Amino acid sequence: MALVKVYNRGYDPETRIGELLHTTTVRHAFGMIRREVADPVELTLIEDRIVPTALELTRELSGAWVEGAGRRSVGFSYRAVHERDHWSCAYCGRSVSRTPACEALLATVDHILPVSRGGPSTWTNLVCACKECNNRKADRTPEEAGMLLRVEPYDPALAYRVGGFVERLPVLVTA
Ligand SMILES: [Zn+2]
Repeated sequence: MALVKVYNRGYDPETRIGELLHTTTVRHAFGMIRREVADPVELTLIEDRIVPTALELTRELSGAWVEGAGRRSVGFSYRAVHERDHWSCAYCGRSVSRTPACEALLATVDHILPVSRGGPSTWTNLVCACKECNNRKADRTPEEAGMLLRVEPYDPALAYRVGGFVERLPVLVTA
């Protein structure tokens, strides 16, 4: 699945530098363009179809909002992280639960940047993980552990604001 980067207003197409807010699907990107929430700034050709690979918001997100994006927003809880990630492990993709058939598939919440390194308990630093992957990763970053993060964690409240509509961005599987 092709992914589209969404930049805040002020993206520089020459240097390709901008404030990356999140990534979304091509389908969602077309919706944002249609609603005039964002303009395409990079395009590519996929199967004879021109599709955007990067968007720039038509209006700049307010400074206050962007500052608040890293903090907990309304509705934050570990359970909400599981819900956002559809109860799937961010590393192995298996379904997890609070009452699994085997211990390995117990739903846990992983700090991408470990707490011991100052990693915060925020939407963008937390993902749903099975107990087995969480134990294997331990006090390491995904890179250090050689583990691929299959989803891009996002703040649902921010995603909502970016879209400007009552819809959640889909959870993205990158592998
Ligand atoms: Zn796992």
